[in-house]
Amino acid sequence: MPFSGSGIHGRRGSFRFGADCGVFMDFMKSHSCYEAVPTSSKVLLLDTKLQVKAAFLALVSNGLRAAPLWDSRRQRFVGMLTITDFINSLHCFYRSPLVQMFELERHRIDTWRGLAFQKVYLKHSHHGLISISANTSLFEAVLMLLRFKIHRLPVLDPESGDVLHILTHKRILKFLYLYTLPRPRFLDQSVLDLGIGTFSDLAVIQDSDSLFSALTLFVQRRVSALPVVDQQGHVVGLYSRFDVINLAAQKSYSDLEVTMTETLKRRTCFIEGVLKCYPQESLETVLQRIVQAQVHRLVMVDSADRVQGIVSLSDLLQALVLSPAGINALLP
Ligand code: ADP
Ligand code: ADP
Ligand code: AMP
Repeated sequence: MPFSGSGIHGRRGSFRFGADCGVFMDFMKSHSCYEAVPTSSKVLLLDTKLQVKAAFLALVSNGLRAAPLWDSRRQRFVGMLTITDFINSLHCFYRSPLVQMFELERHRIDTWRGLAFQKVYLKHSHHGLISISANTSLFEAVLMLLRFKIHRLPVLDPESGDVLHILTHKRILKFLYLYTLPRPRFLDQSVLDLGIGTFSDLAVIQDSDSLFSALTLFVQRRVSALPVVDQQGHVVGLYSRFDVINLAAQKSYSDLEVTMTETLKRRTCFIEGVLKCYPQESLETVLQRIVQAQVHRLVMVDSADRVQGIVSLSDLLQALVLSPAGINALLP
């Protein structure tokens, strides 16, 4: 491995970093995306002529969260289909529990995207696929994920142009975690003192609010998850964009008036309760908890379990990898 002083260790479960705070940036600059690609992974490519509903069902039945979109007429990739796009289409076509969403069946991916680009849904999105060549550094991959505010980055074979894997924040952090690196002292500081995470203007949803209100917040605020709070502001659940795919799996999207309490009950989720941290906890503790739990964020709470903030993998990668390079990719 090109990174001096590093090597794969069997020792998982704890980060060991040294005095240099540029250590993670250097690590990411000296490893290619190819190294973070698993030896075997499934990639689904969807033709833009496919019906919208069938496309999401294909994602569900393959246990996938995203697929690159192939335009067979133009013979090129034109974008991605993710759970966010499922949320957008539900939000756009839903009227009431009594009205069937025929558009979900009528539209093909290309006609739906044409509509979404005109409306609020894809207005700020990029036309075309954002991708990275396998021999480009992981530093560039982090930069692209954060700068474009996306969660899925296809890694392309530099010669064939084939999609080898879809890289995520989780995968990148997990790859970093396989290595034993020198330990910078800032890991002992609290996330609050380091200013890592979002502490104001939080998007949260009341447990008595409807599922449709949650989808509206996803559309309007473009956040990846919503802490669910009770009347006193105590966090009682976490609803992530990922959870919306349950609606496709269970074909239960015809009634979006159900409350968040009911939605959380119906959801199939492998995590019990809410994964949280205190803003006063050290960066190292937060990193260990989030990597072990394999989730995209922790909800920051006070001692009474009231929401204080969110610390997501985007915030952590920004702090560990981009801040030492003087880059702030999380600016609005
Ligand atoms: P999710 O968190 O739902 O998996 P993202 O945050 O990655 O999805 O997606 C947000 C929006 O950006 C979606 O409309 C999606 O289609 C689009 N998108 C995501 N990744 C890419 C990409 N690599 N290239 C182009 N568009 C993308
Ligand atoms: P993705 O892999 O798409 O980034 P997420 O990490 O957002 O997915 O979500 C995966 C699952 O973990 C979802 O069911 C979500 O509700 C759950 N989850 C994510 N973060 C938390 C958290 N902080 N507390 C409890 N559950 C969480
Ligand atoms: P993410 O989309 O989770 O990778 O995070 C992108 C940015 O949005 C990070 O700075 C997060 O702290 C912030 N963020 C995530 N969820 C929320 C939320 N519910 N409210 C406000 N900010 C959030």
